Parts: sequence; structure tokens; C-alpha cells
Amino acid sequence: MKEGCLWHDTSPEPTLPLAPLQADHTTEVAVIGGGITGLSTALHLAEAGVGVTLLEAGEIPSGGSGRNVGLVNAGLWIPPDDICEALGERDGERANAILGGAPAEVFSLIERHAIDCRATRSGTLHLAHNAKGEQELARRVDQFQRRGAPVELLEDEACRQKTGTQRIRCALLDRRAGTINPVAYTRGLARAAATAGARLHGHSAATGIARHGSDWRITTAEGSVTAPRLVIATNAYTEDHWNQVRRHFFPGHFFQVASHPLPDEIAGDILPERQGAWDTRMVLSSMRRDSEGRLILGSLGKGTADLRPMSAAGPTASSATTSPSWGASTGNVPGPGESPSLPTTPCGCSNPRPGSWPPLATTDAVSPPARSSARASPTTWPTATTVCCRCRSASRSQYAPNPFGVPATRAASRSTTPANA
Ligand SMILES: Cc1cc2nc3c(=O)[nH]c(=O)nc-3n(C[C@H](O)[C@H](O)[C@H](O)COP(=O)(O)OP(=O)(O)OC[C@H]3O[C@@H](n4cnc5c(N)ncnc54)[C@H](O)[C@@H]3O)c2cc1C
Repeated sequence: MKEGCLWHDTSPEPTLPLAPLQADHTTEVAVIGGGITGLSTALHLAEAGVGVTLLEAGEIPSGGSGRNVGLVNAGLWIPPDDICEALGERDGERANAILGGAPAEVFSLIERHAIDCRATRSGTLHLAHNAKGEQELARRVDQFQRRGAPVELLEDEACRQKTGTQRIRCALLDRRAGTINPVAYTRGLARAAATAGARLHGHSAATGIARHGSDWRITTAEGSVTAPRLVIATNAYTEDHWNQVRRHFFPGHFFQVASHPLPDEIAGDILPERQGAWDTRMVLSSMRRDSEGRLILGSLGKGTADLRPMSAAGPTASSATTSPSWGASTGNVPGPGESPSLPTTPCGCSNPRPGSWPPLATTDAVSPPARSSARASPTTWPTATTVCCRCRSASRSQYAPNPFGVPATRAASRSTTPANA
């Protein structure tokens, strides 16, 4: 079994060679972090005629943008009604509209900049793993359909035809969504941003930020960038003490394993229309095929023990992509509140949901070094909230560095504070 990142090895978009930042520069907006967030920011600013310089610590991509499942989703983990409940009707519906339109935006960027990332636009399938999952999907479909989204609930034979299995009885098909090779997409964004006039520097880790008059001064090993505006897009890969973004993340692992390319005679029934899929389990599994016909399965964990049964199952599971990632709090992989040993809520709810993490205030993202804090240690690990799906009562838990499956290190305390209080 080969270990590495399949998306890197098979990306049709080549690496963009980027020189490290040298000497001192000034610009209108400085961006730290060359993942999808930073690059999209740089691209859109450059297209609007704004001077922008982006600093990336490694190659592009180095973080979650190149290590994910490649699903282009039209929404959050959280169903749209719950978003409105959390944000209020006006902001919630605004967020729902933006999220619903996100795949169209991604696919239009792909088209406009001719990004070869093997995009498919046949939708995604959210698969029910049991009766409770089926109810959850029915609820989501109802909420999406009320907002005019092109989603449908596939049951029994219709579901089998799309998935290739009879073990899943029900799936939510979202026709807005699709799949990409995420490394190729991110590299394509970098190429487009550079073409539009953004200055991109690889191997240029920001080592500190400080106030310089009314500007921000960002230093790297060999130079600096001074700008009146700063965007910190370092996500879960934030490691530096000066960057308070890191307080909002905890380590989690997700692995993916890919088969050899499977011809249609062998795998033609499995996701025949190439929808990307994931299931309703708390510890979810993802599955998709790529443009060469590989079957790619993923789930939470480091993958080592989990891969053994697959390897034993036959020669198909012979090449792997492992993505030990530190991205669990990106919101696209389950947070600790969804782990199997989730504390129950005070009302004993059987279907608790993850609650809100401490909100990231804008001031956190741009604090000068004087306000920086030490990296979260096991004793200062963040507190998360688990919220009852009905009465909204909450449990608070403090998480240790290995939140999955190590309940003994978790100090849970009960609270009856409503989550939206
Ligand atoms: C396992 C997994 C599966 C996922 N699956 C999906 C999916 O199917 N669909 C989906 O939509 N989302 C998915 N996501 C989420 C998605 O990948 C992330 O939300 C997205 O990539 C975040 O992009 P980003 O640019 O914010 O961060 P990143 O891509 O993590 O980029 C942050 C960058 O900042 C750089 N950096 C850090 N510190 C510094 C510094 N001091 N100086 C300069 N640069 C620095 C890092 O090197 C890194 O390149 C998944 C995430 C994971 C982890």
C-alpha cells in the first residue's frame, strides 16, 4: 500500500513555483495562508484592482485545502432551519442563500479560470445509515425544498441505483453540489490569483505581526510586508504563538484510502454517476470515485488499524491516501461534540448536536503580539457545547488533545443554559 496524497499525485494542475518573500514590501492587503480561503481572497481582491500580497508557509496547497474529500457542498453540517435559529431569521436566511449558491460560485470560478480539477456536477448523496438517519434526511429535504433547493429523497430502488448497494435505503441527492480534485482546484486558484496580479510567496511563513503606525507589518524569515489591511487565513494549520486563530482548533484525524482505478465492468454499479457521498453516522464515512475510477473511502481516525480489513479484502485497496489532518474544527469534519462519547444534555436528549465553539472575534484574528496567548494545552483546551436538538439545553465539555475515544480525559460539566442565550 502506497502512502501519500492521491490528490497531489493525480492533480492535472501543476504546482505553481513561488519565490519566497525577500526584502520589505508594501501593499494594500496582506493575506497570510495559501489555502482556498487565502487564495480566493487574493484572487477576488486582485480582480477588483486591489494590491494584494499572500504569504504561504509551504507549497500551495499545504493545509486542509489539499487534503479533503473534494465534495463541493451546498450547505453546512447544520440544517438550514437550525442556522436560522442560531443566527436569527434574516442573517440565517442570508447565510443559507450564500451557502446554497456556493457550488455554483465554485464551478463558475473553475470555468472562468479554466481550472482542470476534474470537476463533476452530478450532485452529492447524503446517505442514511439507519432509521434515525432516514428521519434526519427527510427533515433536511423538507427544509431545503421549502427554500426551493433542487434536492430529493431517494428511497429503496432509486437509492440503490445511485449508490450500488441495498444496505442503504435512503439518500438525500443534492443536485447543486459536485466533486473536485481539491489540490488541482487550489493550485488553479493560485494560478488565477497570480494571473490577476496578486503577489504570491511560498515558503514564507509569517513569523509575527505588529502595528506599524496605522498599518500591519508582517515579518517572515527574509522580509516583511506592510499593509493597512490584513487577512489571516491560516486555518487549523496555525502554529505560531502570535496567531490567536489557533486557540480555536484542536487536532483530529481523518484518513482516506483509494483503490486502483476500477473499470466500469467491475465498479460500474458503485456511485455510477460519480456523486460524492457521506453518511449520517456521528463518526461519518465518506465515499466517492475519482475521474480515473478509483473508489475512495474515508473516515475519522488515523487509518492504520482501519485499513487492515480492506487490504485483506483484496487487491483493490492497494494504494492509499492518508490525510492526517488538523482540521476538525473547520466545520467540515465533525467537531468533538459529535464524537461517540458525547455527553448527554441535561434533558437526556437522545439526539444531541454540537453547539457553538467560542466565536472568533475579528479582533482575535488581527491581534498584535502583545495580546497573544500560549498554545492550548490539555489543561487549557477549549470548551465545547453540546446542545439538545429540541429544548436547546446545553452541556459543556472540555476536550483533551485526543478527543476521539478518550472520554476519561474529558471533564464534562452540566449546564442548563440555553445554547442561544
Ligand atoms: C479531512 C478533511 C476533509 C474535508 N472534506 C471537505 C469536503 O469534502 N468539502 C469541503 O467543502 N470541505 C472539506 N473540508 C474542509 C476544507 O478542506 C477546509 O474548510 C478548507 O480547505 C479550509 O481552507 P483554508 O484556506 O481556510 O485553510 P487551509 O487549506 O488549511 O490553509 C491554511 C494555510 O495557511 C498556511 N499557514 C499556516 N500558518 C502560516 C503562517 N504563519 N504563514 C504563512 N502561511 C501559514 C498553511 O500552510 C496552510 O497552507 C475537509 C477538511 C478536512 C480536514
